Amino acid sequence: MIESFMKTAQVLRRVNNKLRLPLPLFRLLNGKKARFECPICAYEGPFLDLSAFAGVRKHAKCPRCGSLERHRLQYLAATRAFANLPIATAKMLHFAPEAFLMKIFASRFAKYETADLFMEGVDHKVDIQHLPFKDETYDVIFASHVLEHIRDDRQAITEIRRVLKPNGFAILPVPIVCTNTIEYADANPYEAGHIRAPGLDYFDRYMEYFRKVEVQGSESFPERHQLFIYEDRSKWPSRECPLRPPMEGWRHPDFVPICYA
Ligand SMILES: [Zn+2]
Repeated sequence: MIESFMKTAQVLRRVNNKLRLPLPLFRLLNGKKARFECPICAYEGPFLDLSAFAGVRKHAKCPRCGSLERHRLQYLAATRAFANLPIATAKMLHFAPEAFLMKIFASRFAKYETADLFMEGVDHKVDIQHLPFKDETYDVIFASHVLEHIRDDRQAITEIRRVLKPNGFAILPVPIVCTNTIEYADANPYEAGHIRAPGLDYFDRYMEYFRKVEVQGSESFPERHQLFIYEDRSKWPSRECPLRPPMEGWRHPDFVPICYA
């Protein structure tokens, strides 16, 4: 009974998040809301609130390109990191490619390839724990919100490190939702199949494999891009997230780790 209620709530949230008013009407109806600027599509105005399993997430989504808080932060952090690359010859591998980042990355790199185990239309249908590529193949690897789904994440990190060229880097953000990482016994379907709740200590794992790990946070960029997650996490643990500990605060920073080979 509780299970079917949670499933219905999940479907309703998805439908609600997909409903989109025409942009001029959305602007008109939200004239009093805070205004922001999307760094990806240059939209200026109010952002959309989202329904998420932690409740309403305010100012989350750009109504023009659909970017979320994390996408905007990742775009800004990646752009900063790309500045030092020989972009005309650099080769990038993008896991679980997000549509709008895909277009941007593809236009910036001389060679750009996509990979995923399940997605259709990618260049490489591969398991991130066992990559069929030679050592030192890529200058940049981007895998956002992937490792929290992988049971043997250390094996995946080892593989990513192996196929990176010397001086290359991997951008490997995961959702940071607690202080100390919690490993789940089973994947949680209500958290999109997450197998762990990554904590602030999660990036320490990267330091075991990479020469240097640089973390860019929401505070590293201008406020106007809205890179924070407005979410009441004090209600955890909930039925849907039974293993997440409660967190204080209603505005949480997000982080993008850049891991140098
Ligand atoms: Zn946008």
